[in-house]
Amino acid sequence: MGSSPQPPVKPAPFEYHSPRTLDEALTLLAEFGSDAKPLAGGQSLIPAMNFRLATPAILVDLNSIAALAFVTPDAGVLRLGGMTRHRTLERDRNVARFAPLVSAALPFVAHPAIRTRGTIGGSLAHADPAAELPAVMLALNATFTLQSRAGTRHVRATDFFTGLFMTTVEPGVLLTEIVIPQRGARSRFAFDEISRRHGDYALAGAAAAVTLDADGTCAEARVALLSVGDRPILSEQVSRRLVGRVPSPEAVRDAADDAADRDIDPPGDIHASSRYRRQLARVLIRRVLQRAIDNDAVPRESRTGGDA
Ligand code: FAD
Repeated sequence: MGSSPQPPVKPAPFEYHSPRTLDEALTLLAEFGSDAKPLAGGQSLIPAMNFRLATPAILVDLNSIAALAFVTPDAGVLRLGGMTRHRTLERDRNVARFAPLVSAALPFVAHPAIRTRGTIGGSLAHADPAAELPAVMLALNATFTLQSRAGTRHVRATDFFTGLFMTTVEPGVLLTEIVIPQRGARSRFAFDEISRRHGDYALAGAAAAVTLDADGTCAEARVALLSVGDRPILSEQVSRRLVGRVPSPEAVRDAADDAADRDIDPPGDIHASSRYRRQLARVLIRRVLQRAIDNDAVPRESRTGGDA
C-alpha cells in the first residue's frame, strides 16, 4: 500500500525577537521588511506556520509590549490597543458601556481558550472574511492607527480591508490602536450569526448600529456582514432604505431584502451554497435591525447557552 505524504505539523525554522517597546518592534520590522511578521496572540499565525502556509523567516513577538494593550475612553471615542485580548474586551466595563456591539459579538469569536490569547489587532490584521470583529468595526465606523518607522497613518475601517485576508497593512507596519466613536443614548446595537456549532466560523453574520431620533426617525443605520464575500461588507441599501424614515417592521424587511439582493454576491463552498448564504444574510439583517431597534442586543440563545 502506497503512503501519502503527511502535512507538516511544525513550522519552518525562524528567528525570534521579543521587543519590550513599540519603538524596538518598529525598528526590527523596518530592518527585516517582508521577511518578518508580527506575532500577536498566535491563534491564526501559528497554525498557518505549522502547516507551512506561512513561512516568515523572522517573528517579532508583540506580547511583551505592555503599552499596546489598553481600553481607554477618551473625548467622544473609545481607544483600544492593538494587543488587547478578546477576553479582556469581552469582560471590560468600558467596552460594554461605550462599544456594546463589541461585547455582543465577542462571545461568537471561537472559544474561550482562543479568546484568551487572540487579540483585536491580530484579528483585524488577519482579515478573515468570516471573522466577527472586522464587520463590527465597519458597523461602528471605527478608525485604525497604523504605525511604522516612517510615521503614523489613520485608516477608516471602510478602507482597511482590501480583499481576501488582505488589508492596507504593509510589511514594517503595526496596527497599534482602534478608535471607536462613542454614540449617544439613542444608538442601539445588535449582533448575530449562524454557524454549524457555537464557536465555529460563521456561515454568515451581521452587526448593526442604529440611531433613532426622538420621534423615532432613523438617523443612522449601519449593518455590516461577514462571511458573504472576500471581506466584511457594509450594506449601502440598509442605510439608503432606512435613514430619514421610521423603521417599521415592513421597512426593515424591505431593507433586508434589498441588502441581501444587491449589496452582496456570496461565495459558495462546501459549507454553504451562495444562495443559502444570501438567504442567511437576509434573515440576519432583518434580525439584527429589529433587535437594534427594539434595543435587544443579545440574541436569545446566547443568554442561556454559549460557553461564557
Ligand atoms: P496572530 O495569529 O498572532 O496574527 C494574525 C496575523 O495578523 C499575522 O499575519 C500577524 O503577523 C498579523 N498581526 C497580528 N497583530 C498585528 C498587529 N498589531 N499589526 C499588524 N499585523 C498584526 N476568529 C474569529 O474572528 N472568529 C472565529 O470564530 C474564530 N474561530 C477560531 C477557531 C480556532 C480553532 C482558531 C485557532 C482560531 C479562530 N479564530 C476565530 C481566530 C482568532 O480569533 C485569532 O485570535 C485571530 O484571528 C488572530 O488574532 P491573534 O492575536 O491570534 O493574531
